[in-house]
Amino acid sequence: MNKQQFDFTASVVWTVLDPFLKLHFGERCDDFEFGCECCERWRLADKLLAFDSPRSPQTLTQEIETLKTSLQWREELLSKMSK
Ligand SMILES: [Zn+2]
Repeated sequence: MNKQQFDFTASVVWTVLDPFLKLHFGERCDDFEFGCECCERWRLADKLLAFDSPRSPQTLTQEIETLKTSLQWREELLSKMSK
């Protein structure tokens, strides 16, 4: 599948997914917040429908930073739970 085909399919899926996400989880938040149900759902949809670009050192660095933040948030949540 080339990018043009992918983008077409993704746009068809978005026309269904967009109203679904708005109905069940609300409008996309202005700023992404870890742990927010709405943000997480929209992020997953973005990820699902993003054309896979070849990884570059820059995108990998960005991904690592995102994962670190995600881990930190979960560790904070866990420490609150275990008190
Ligand atoms: Zn949110």
